[in-house]
Amino acid sequence: MKAVAYSSKICEKELLIKANNKKHDITLISNRLTLDTISYAKGKDVVLAFSCDDLSAPILYKLKEMGVKYVSTRSSGTDHIDLTKADSLGLKIANVPAYSPESVAEHAISLILSLLRNIIPAHKQMLEHDFSLNNLVGSTLRNKTVGIVGLGRSGKVLAQILRGFGAKILVNDIRDVSEECTSYSARQVSYDEILKESDIISFHVPLSESTRHMVDREAIIKMKARVMLINVSRGAIFNTKDVLDALQDEKISKLGMDVYEFEHNVFFFNHSRNPIQDPLLKALIQHSRVLLTPHMAFLTEEALQVIAEQTILNLDLWEAGHTPVNSCTIGIKTGIVPKAISA
Ligand code: NAD
Repeated sequence: MKAVAYSSKICEKELLIKANNKKHDITLISNRLTLDTISYAKGKDVVLAFSCDDLSAPILYKLKEMGVKYVSTRSSGTDHIDLTKADSLGLKIANVPAYSPESVAEHAISLILSLLRNIIPAHKQMLEHDFSLNNLVGSTLRNKTVGIVGLGRSGKVLAQILRGFGAKILVNDIRDVSEECTSYSARQVSYDEILKESDIISFHVPLSESTRHMVDREAIIKMKARVMLINVSRGAIFNTKDVLDALQDEKISKLGMDVYEFEHNVFFFNHSRNPIQDPLLKALIQHSRVLLTPHMAFLTEEALQVIAEQTILNLDLWEAGHTPVNSCTIGIKTGIVPKAISA
């Protein structure tokens, strides 16, 4: 198959080339997929996309017109793709649903511990040769009540890790996960109860109409005073303006985010020579109680390996006339179980 991989990063190039093993003709480019760069897809059967690529209706329409038949996104989230439009156009979509949930959960726990133990301020003090302790008093995770919203792949790994730390775990999910909760000594509760009871809340849900802005002014009012919030899922799960307001008045004591509501066009690229203008993002970066990372929770050697293998497997299956089980086209949910997932 002929494919173009948009937004490809140097760190994934060798892995994709190795996984491909010369089976498919893949052009790797670093540009994001937009209307300005769509011409690179001319003559290709497949577009290999990433979560920063634009796969809205006009782009999908143009891709179809250009003869593209398949889109495989090298991410688990598919909120950057208009799946309904893809379905109506007959474009087949697949993702990489199950790459290393440990990578995402371990990033969440890194944010939690760094914030609890003031690791970043301590490092800044070290750079100034300031070895005093007064501003660095932390607190332990043991006996803290941690709310996990979304007990899917990454939420489960986080629950397992938190159990080892001796935290009390509350879980909210739209599915009945009460039985699964018992393996983590956790309890399934309502979203309101998570807000009311938790010292720390970590979000592990996909972006959808039901999760967009699930943290807004109204939700924050229900939270405990001085709550810590962690978001490694998707930026728009938080209403950033409301979260920043709550940080100012210390209702939210600390905030750890790997994703940002308006990250498109900014995250994944080096802006050091062209500083960002977005006032909300600037306020987050400069805030002493915020720890922001550039959408890197997935970024481990282990995850990149699975992403590369699964992406090539999607192409192999499509070429052989099969539907990958991780097909995201609305209405098609069956197919061949890819090896990388069943393993
Ligand atoms: P998953 O699909 O395995 O689990 C999601 C869980 O959320 C499911 O249990 C689902 O029932 C639950 N859920 C859905 N809507 C809900 C709602 N309104 N309220 C409560 N629960 C709800 O997903 P995952 O692999 O754990 O990943 C979660 C999200 O994290 C992904 O969709 C993706 O957007 C994001 N992600 C981010 C990174 C990163 O690098 N920062 C990496 C991977 C995934």
